[in-house]
Amino acid sequence: MTTSLTFPCPHCGGMNRVPHERIQEHPRCGHCQNTLITGQPTDLTQANFARQIRGDLPLLVDVWAAWCGPCQQFAPTFQQAAERLKGICRLAKLDSEAESALAGELRIRSIPTLILFNNGQEAARLSGALPLAQLLDWLSQHGVRP
Ligand code: ZN
Repeated sequence: MTTSLTFPCPHCGGMNRVPHERIQEHPRCGHCQNTLITGQPTDLTQANFARQIRGDLPLLVDVWAAWCGPCQQFAPTFQQAAERLKGICRLAKLDSEAESALAGELRIRSIPTLILFNNGQEAARLSGALPLAQLLDWLSQHGVRP
């Protein structure tokens, strides 16, 4: 039996259904034809947030700000994680200054904060930066395994 994943396009937000075995084959969006699995973090805004957290390919969000030193140090780790987790977990960044209303709705008290979403629901949250190996460990405790 074929199982598939349903998740939004990082470019247009349109929902796509991709069979498991095709995830690693560079699937394209059925709506805008762009690459669905980019290995790059998507930027979240109030406008695309509700759509991007949907779907059963989990979404890991890094809530950050330009003035935050630990956030900047963590950025390359997050980038590496995006490449490692290609097709397993989507990654996104939320600028808590530019999107302060959204950060408020998410009750962000410190940055960086990592939030894992699955099917539109918050599945896990972690405050503070951490090395790649520990980040992958934390994710695997929540069912996201490379
Ligand atoms: Zn699209």
